[in-house]
Amino acid sequence: MSERCLFCAIAAGKVPAHIVYEDDRTVAFLDIHPSAPGHTLITPRTHAARIEDLSAEDAAALFTALHRLTKPIREAVGAEAATVGINDGPGSGQEVPHVHIHVIPRRRGDGGGIIQAITRKGSAGASLPDVADRIRKRIT
Ligand code: AMP
Ligand code: ZN
Repeated sequence: MSERCLFCAIAAGKVPAHIVYEDDRTVAFLDIHPSAPGHTLITPRTHAARIEDLSAEDAAALFTALHRLTKPIREAVGAEAATVGINDGPGSGQEVPHVHIHVIPRRRGDGGGIIQAITRKGSAGASLPDVADRIRKRIT
C-alpha cells in the first residue's frame, strides 16, 4: 500500500466506497462523480501509478475482472453499451495516480463521444510506417 494513495486506502477498506466486486488482486467500486449511472472503476489492490508499473499478474487480473464485470454493470443500469478506458499518466488527465479502468455505461443518444475523439490530431505529419517501426523497436 502506498501512503496517501486514495485507491490503496479504498482497497484496504480504510476509505469507504461503494464496492461492487473484489477478488485477491482487484477491487471495483462506483466512481464518486459518475459520468453516467453505473460508472465503475476497477483497480489493482497493489499500488501501481501507470500501466507499465503493473505486474503481469495484475494486468491480467484487471482484464479478467473487466471481462467479468462489464455486462453486470451495463445490465444493472439498463445500458446497451459501455466505453472502457484508462487515463494513463498526468498528461492524459489522470488525477488519481493508481491505475484504474473506467467502465462507463453508454446508450445511443447519450451525447457522449468515442474514445478516438479525445484528440483529433491524426498522424500530425508522422508517417504510419515510421511510427510503427519506432514502436516495434521499443517493445521488450
Ligand atoms: P482519473 O482522471 O482517471 O484519475 O479519474 C479518477 C476518478 O476517480 C474520477 O472519475 C473521480 O470521480 C474518481 N474518484 C475520486 N475520488 C473518489 C472516491 N473517493 N471514490 C470513488 N471515486 C473517486
Ligand atoms: Zn495506490
